[in-house]
Amino acid sequence: MTSAPADSLIALRDLTRQFSAERDWQQFHTPKNLAMALTVEAAELAEHFQWLQTGADAELDDARRTGIRHELADVLLYLVQLADKSGVDLHAAALEKMALNAAKYPAEQVRGDARKYNQY
Ligand SMILES: [Mg+2]
Repeated sequence: MTSAPADSLIALRDLTRQFSAERDWQQFHTPKNLAMALTVEAAELAEHFQWLQTGADAELDDARRTGIRHELADVLLYLVQLADKSGVDLHAAALEKMALNAAKYPAEQVRGDARKYNQY
């Protein structure tokens, strides 16, 4: 039995597969192209925060909030497609990485300290 987050990622994967198939775009969706598209979308997301003081919600207007929402979705959709093409179970990989991060950054050791693991 899979958890709800994993199910929602699978549903998004299936939607992207269908979207691409209906347009015959799978031929363009190589891992390299998807990795590049993901990076471009991440930059489009960052652009919404460029030159703001912190990017906190109080600094955003509705148009910018919508733009951020859409770019977050673009990043997620390319991430899901890249994981699909790479044979990666994204939910399992995220859980695995969280466990690795927890081991690398023990809470009692790093609480309130933003330094990288090899700097303390
Ligand atoms: Mg975009």
